[in-house]
Parts: sequence; structure tokens; C-alpha cells
Amino acid sequence: MSDAPKDPRDKMTAGVLAESRLVNGLPGLGAFRVKAADGGAVPEFLAGQATSVAFEQDGEILTRWYSVASPPEQRHALDFLVVDAKGSGKGLFALEAGAPLWFGSCVGKLTLERSDCRHLVLLGTGTGLAPYLSMLRHLKAQAAAGQPVPVAVALFHGARRGAELAFRDELEALAKEQPFRFLYVPCVSRPGEDPDFDPARTTAGRADEAAARVLGLPSPGQDPRGVSFPAVFEPAALAALLPEDDTAIYLCGNPKMIDAFDAACAGTPRQERLVFERWW
Ligand SMILES: Cc1cc2nc3c(=O)[nH]c(=O)nc-3n(C[C@H](O)[C@H](O)[C@H](O)COP(=O)(O)OP(=O)(O)OC[C@H]3O[C@@H](n4cnc5c(N)ncnc54)[C@H](O)[C@@H]3O)c2cc1C
Repeated sequence: MSDAPKDPRDKMTAGVLAESRLVNGLPGLGAFRVKAADGGAVPEFLAGQATSVAFEQDGEILTRWYSVASPPEQRHALDFLVVDAKGSGKGLFALEAGAPLWFGSCVGKLTLERSDCRHLVLLGTGTGLAPYLSMLRHLKAQAAAGQPVPVAVALFHGARRGAELAFRDELEALAKEQPFRFLYVPCVSRPGEDPDFDPARTTAGRADEAAARVLGLPSPGQDPRGVSFPAVFEPAALAALLPEDDTAIYLCGNPKMIDAFDAACAGTPRQERLVFERWW
């Protein structure tokens, strides 16, 4: 028997990088679309799941995990939202459209099926938005098909600066359109460094602090400067939509945020309804 390391691609689907673009022109934030090389359907998955993607680079085969940002209803392609965390310009960022790659089956438990609560808080930092994009796009399709949807969904998305709030236009349009009861709370943690910061439409402060404030939880304590909501935003009105005994709180993104939020929920009924998965 050979001791040669197994090629991770052996059990994966051959694919192609179909599209690649920078989000809001930021060099380290990319939206990528992959398709099966044979033009067939992509693997089935649940909104919120992730898959591994393998590709050749610098003579190596690299494998990375990414959450699927597209909804399960989209059968011809998988979409990803990816950050170049080290600013290396490598990984998917270095591939040209048309480059071969491989993807695995989709797995993970950060799914809508994890909870039977009828109200949802989706709290995400950075690319932690990706699984929520899949969920929200799925819920929109569910609503259009007359299928059951939650009573209310509130998304708290945190980034350092406004430009990093990926897919803001789509999320604002969803909040305006209301195919289901949806509230979008974009949060910028470094408004002082953001010349485009608009306090009329963006919360100043961390997303976890904003969510904790709305949910009546103690501060996760990572930023004592606290939060400042836009004047039109009423935390108490949103809180009334998120009853303690029927609201699941999903967490995705920076592991320190997840730990701090979990700790802030300790000893409260909210903690029983936390749903999260660590990425790194
Ligand atoms: C289940 C799962 C789902 C994932 N989904 C996504 C996704 O949708 N989008 C995505 O960009 N990444 C996602 N990741 C992380 C991804 O697999 C890589 O780790 C990340 O892209 C960084 O890769 P790298 O090669 O640059 O550096 P790595 O060597 O993998 O990581 C370097 C360091 O960068 C930081 N880091 C890693 N990932 C991120 C991130 N997403 N945001 C900020 N800092 C990070 C960590 O401090 C890490 O130690 C996921 C990981 C898992 C396990």
C-alpha cells in the first residue's frame, strides 16, 4: 500500500471559478461564484452550510472552507463571500475566472433547522454575513412560494467601516420590500476612521454590543465606548419583536465575539437559544 498523501480532490466535484469580483472595490473582500465543470447542478445543501474548495496554487493544492452565500434554490452555482484575512492576495483572489477548482459536499450545523424558534437574531461580523445571506435569500424564496417563514428576523452585521458592509444594497432592499418581517442593523465599529459614515442610517459601535443592547443583555464588554443607534431606529420596538422565550440567536464570525456574546448570555434564557459554529 502506498504511503503517498491522498489528493483531497479525489472525493470532490470538479468545478470552475465562474465569476470573481471585489466587493465595494475593496482589495481584500471578494465575491466568488463557482460552477460544476460539467455544467450540472451543484451539491444540495441547507442555508447556512459550508463547503471545502480546493485549488492549485504555487505548486500546492490548497483547501479552504467557505460558507455558501447563495440560497439552496440556486442550483447552477455556489456563491461565496471571502476575506483575504492576511492580505496576501492569494487563495481565490489569485485565481482568474475560468480556473479549475474542486468543491466538496456541504456540511455544518449553522442552519435554520437548528432551532424551532419563530423569531431570529442573526449576528455576524465580517464575512460571518455569508451564511446569513444564504438564509435570507432562502427565506425570500420561501415567502414567494407561500412556505412558512419566521415571524421576524433581525440581522446585526458588524464591520470596521461602512465599505466593508457587504451586500448592503441588497439587504436594505430586502428590509424595504419586507417579503417577510426583516430588520437590518448595519454597525460600524470605527466610525471615526470612516469619512463616509452616515449616522442617519448606520449604527456606530460593535454589532455584538448593539444586539446585546436590544436584547437586554449585559455588554459583551469588548468596547466600552458603547453604541449609538440612528435616530430613526428604536431599540425598544425591535426588542418587542424578539421575545426571550421564542428567539434563536445565531452567531457567526470572529471567535472572540462569539465567546464574549456567549458569556454575556450566561445565566439568561437567551443562552439556551444560541446557535453558533467556530470558523477558526
Ligand atoms: C466552516 C467554515 C466556514 C468558513 N466560511 C468562510 C467564509 O464564508 N468566508 C471567509 O472568508 N472565510 C471563511 N472561513 C475561513 C476560511 O476557511 C479561511 O480560514 C480564511 O479565508 C483565511 O484563509 P487564509 O488562507 O488567508 O488564512 P488562514 O491561515 O486560514 O487564516 C489566517 C488567520 O486569518 C483569520 N481569519 C480566518 N478566517 C477569517 C475570516 N473569515 N475573517 C477574518 N479573519 C479570518 C484568523 O485569525 C486566522 O488565524 C470558513 C472556515 C470554516 C471552517
